[in-house]
Amino acid sequence: MRMRRAPQPEEATAAPPAARAVRRALPPAGQLRRERRVLLQVRERRLRDLGGLMVEMYRRDQFRQDLLVDRCVELAKIDERLGELETLLSVSASRGRVREAARCECGAPLFWGSKFCAQCGRAVAPT
Ligand SMILES: [Zn+2]
Repeated sequence: MRMRRAPQPEEATAAPPAARAVRRALPPAGQLRRERRVLLQVRERRLRDLGGLMVEMYRRDQFRQDLLVDRCVELAKIDERLGELETLLSVSASRGRVREAARCECGAPLFWGSKFCAQCGRAVAPT
């Protein structure tokens, strides 16, 4: 049985989905994790269905390649989205680790190691 992936015209032209997604505002991590959980369940189910479909086709000795390819395309899309979600989650995790910049009482950001505020000249309290 020959099974070749049909060419996907949008793949060649579009920017990588992960890179595109990162430039958008980052959705809350909880929402991303929920979507990932749901997608992983859908993926498991689809994989089982695909296996069942293969066995059924084997029993009938009648392979419908188009059906199999359709299912594989859907699974590949799910995987692609899962990859995006991983990227987004790792970005949001690294953002969470970044500490809030220290600020002077006047509101100006304080540079690390500076003794005086660059805006108002107030002495920086050692912390
Ligand atoms: Zn200041």
